[in-house]
Amino acid sequence: MSSKEKLKIIPLGGMREIGKNITAFECGEEILIVDCGIAFPEDEMLGIDLVIPDVSYLTKNKSKIKGIILTHGHEDHIGAIPYVLREFQVPVYGTRLTLALLRFKLEEHGILGTTDLRTVYPGQSEQFGRFNVEFIRTTHSIPDSIALAIHTPVGTIVQTSDFKIDYTPIASEPMDLNKFAELGNQGVLLLMCDSTNVESEGHTMSEKTLEATFEETFRRAKGRILVTTFASNIQRLQQVFEASAKFNRKVALCGRSIDHAFKAASAEGYLNIKDDMIVDIDKINKYKNEEIVILTTGSQGEPMSALSRIASSEHRKVEIIPGDMVVISANPIPGNEKLISRVINELFSKGAEVVYEKLADIHVSGHACKEELRLMHRLVKPKYFMPVHGEYRHLKQHANLAMEMGMSEEDIFIMDVGDVLELTSHSARINGHVASGRVLVDGLGVGDVGSVVLRDRKLLSEDGLIVVVMTARKRRATS
Ligand SMILES: [Zn+2]
Ligand SMILES: [Zn+2]
Repeated sequence: MSSKEKLKIIPLGGMREIGKNITAFECGEEILIVDCGIAFPEDEMLGIDLVIPDVSYLTKNKSKIKGIILTHGHEDHIGAIPYVLREFQVPVYGTRLTLALLRFKLEEHGILGTTDLRTVYPGQSEQFGRFNVEFIRTTHSIPDSIALAIHTPVGTIVQTSDFKIDYTPIASEPMDLNKFAELGNQGVLLLMCDSTNVESEGHTMSEKTLEATFEETFRRAKGRILVTTFASNIQRLQQVFEASAKFNRKVALCGRSIDHAFKAASAEGYLNIKDDMIVDIDKINKYKNEEIVILTTGSQGEPMSALSRIASSEHRKVEIIPGDMVVISANPIPGNEKLISRVINELFSKGAEVVYEKLADIHVSGHACKEELRLMHRLVKPKYFMPVHGEYRHLKQHANLAMEMGMSEEDIFIMDVGDVLELTSHSARINGHVASGRVLVDGLGVGDVGSVVLRDRKLLSEDGLIVVVMTARKRRATS
């Protein structure tokens, strides 16, 4: 370990915001990128489909990039890959399920054949120039999630990425807690740790606790059951299949993202179900109502999703019939409450019974609460700490938690997007800032929509539009 070496850690997204996680690790002439996600547009971003990170700093330094490592298959970690690969082509590393989900995305963008995808396995490590990266199994709301131990010339960085400590996970292996303890004993320079649930006391419930709730809910249902959840929550899909099997029901899949997640997880062996469990959505009418479960997209009330269209009678294949039970097995992402509420109202008004988080414990979070975070800090025992994956209040609360556990304030770094944390083997400081921010994507293009266009759209949406048609005749001057 040289005392002259310097490591720069540059978050280009995911700080003081939820979404578009991407971080660059730069040492000399080498850059390693971890994650590359999208954020969802805010209410005032009219007509915007998604938000991706500004990666102009990386584009400028593309010859240095050794690769992109993806920690898991959620949109806020992989969603921007097709856009970023337009700027620079580098190998993309991920676990089996993560890459299986990414492949659908690359195919839609027509770049599957030209992308260099490399599978990594929890428990193994890989060399990226002078970075040696260990992939550590974690538990989260999607299987095959990993944390990283990045061994650099100045010391070891532990990046937990999104995790909860689930002692009884469904459809995945338990978290490799021993590895974190081992790293802690060897000495960790910096811990970067998930802050999403830092405001919640205690311990996140295990996925397994939902088993009884699903069983009880399914037992009550007299007619069809519609279940919606995050498509990538493979563990939850498995639970729905198990409850369906128990009550002799077949499952029909409804919506593109559920279909993709189902195919990816089945192909990689993350779903364990009998083939005859699945029925085509076109054939559900051949069964009695009490023999059917429909697994559908739309847990966030997204207007174009299958459940929203079913609720508003705009779906071509499924219509609500009185006596249907609709189970919403997800919590609203902040900002989506109104959309979901509208869907719930419509479902009730059509005669369905709706089971949602306010009425039943039908969802558990995928992120660590305070007690799990404390355990992580104790195991890893870092010299420095950077809270990640949260709005400012989450980062601040996580900093407080670290201080309560004995860290001093000057060893904790609350970063902003674009800030550069400069580390040596014995020092750390925020030094400099690089170009960063967000790029708006609408159906037509990437980055074409700036604040002026958004302002015009806002005006149009509020004040309407007048089109002035004026004809003019061109008269040649005679004199
Ligand atoms: Zn995330
Ligand atoms: Zn996640």
